[in-house]
Amino acid sequence: MPKIEIDELRCKGCGLCATVCPKKCIVLSEQINNLGYTIAVLDEAGGACVGCALCAEMCPDVAILVFK
Ligand code: SF4
Ligand code: SF4
Repeated sequence: MPKIEIDELRCKGCGLCATVCPKKCIVLSEQINNLGYTIAVLDEAGGACVGCALCAEMCPDVAILVFK
């Protein structure tokens, strides 16, 4: 089953990954990283991830890894 990992230390909470995900698997959480940004996380529907990697391609900070 595909899954992603988001590096919370790189994420700046821009939300671009959530915007492009066709399955709406990613949400901005209320968790704040060491840079003071609210970070993106895989939501409870993360099981719907199809491994398309659009989120990783879109992330300007190369914070997402996709495992197929
Ligand atoms: S790999 Fe595709 S389906 Fe999975 S979280 Fe990223 S954009 Fe969404
Ligand atoms: S696109 Fe990258 S930096 Fe922006 S919220 Fe998503 S993981 Fe964080």
